[in-house]
Amino acid sequence: MAVTIVPSSDAGEDATRLAAALVSLDTTNPGLVTGAPGERAAVEHLRSRLDRAGFTTHVLTPHEDADRPSLVAYPPDSERLPTVILNGHLDTVGPGAMVEPFSARVVGDRMFGRGAADMKAGVAALVVAAERAAEFGVVRPVLALVADEEDAGLGSETVIAALPALGIRPDVCLIAEPTDLALARSVRGFAVVLVRIGGRAAHSSQPDLGTNAVSRLGRLIAAVDEHAPRVRAAGGDLMVTVARGGESPFVIPAAAECVVERRVAPGETLVEVVTEIRTLLEPDWDTTIEVLAQREPWRCDTAGPARRWGEALGERLGTGWGLDAPYWLEAPLWQRVCPTVVSGPSGGGLHSDDEWVDLAQLRAFTRVLVDTLGMPELWGARAD
Ligand SMILES: [Zn+2]
Repeated sequence: MAVTIVPSSDAGEDATRLAAALVSLDTTNPGLVTGAPGERAAVEHLRSRLDRAGFTTHVLTPHEDADRPSLVAYPPDSERLPTVILNGHLDTVGPGAMVEPFSARVVGDRMFGRGAADMKAGVAALVVAAERAAEFGVVRPVLALVADEEDAGLGSETVIAALPALGIRPDVCLIAEPTDLALARSVRGFAVVLVRIGGRAAHSSQPDLGTNAVSRLGRLIAAVDEHAPRVRAAGGDLMVTVARGGESPFVIPAAAECVVERRVAPGETLVEVVTEIRTLLEPDWDTTIEVLAQREPWRCDTAGPARRWGEALGERLGTGWGLDAPYWLEAPLWQRVCPTVVSGPSGGGLHSDDEWVDLAQLRAFTRVLVDTLGMPELWGARAD
């Protein structure tokens, strides 16, 4: 294989240095913060590193936005090996009120900075592990380092769509999102639904001549709140997060609307939860429903390659299948392509003003990843 790695001392230390380099680059998602730079600086940094390591690299951009690059990289001449997707996102939420968000300051075993835990440390571990796995020749590591996970998911969608044309047929995928090194059992999905409610305008001195859409909206909000405990008991969540209606004083409001958010437990379907929201509307109301965004829930396979690899990772990391993620992450997208496992180094302050990653977790994760990618007994040969 034409891959030339200059191995630095230790995979964990190598990943720590790369994590610091990535945290020092501002890759705030411009879908979340207008005018933010996006993923380009991280893509360029990693592409030049992986080019030097002899990897084949591709920069992919979605049709919607040529300025949102994702990076795919793999060692050449490795198609015959079991193909392992190593997935992480390069974008971050905005720095908010963080002090020195891009300094990668280290205090003890904590590295501070926006994206340190979510998820530049995870990305650094994946890159170092891929470089070393290329030397072992047991699996074909395919890095899928994507844009826009924190917003619309354009990056993973773009990379997944491009896999067949790139000749990549994945056998298993690891997403290194921060989980405190636990293996994710499940991820909740969500549906965000806009409900528009009609009424009839009239002068407020003669309310009987009109129909008050804001009153109907109030009844809907009350119905949502009343139903929410049953949803929550079944592992979901239900709430109204935006409400507006009416035009001015002295006018019976002819229109009102709200956004109903539903977190979807594994086992529920998106169709069911939208139907459930419809049942909360009174039948004689003039309403329309529009699904603004929806994502499926996910459960990790209970057998097969994701399970086997997860067991091997958990055993060596001293963790296990301990996480049911209440928030969404991209596992259901990758599961459509191949069995998927989720585990990665974490810390604290994700999406808040003091984000940090635990460097002991980063080192342990990187070393264990390298070890498991070099175990022939775990991977065997490709079936076809
Ligand atoms: Zn993340």
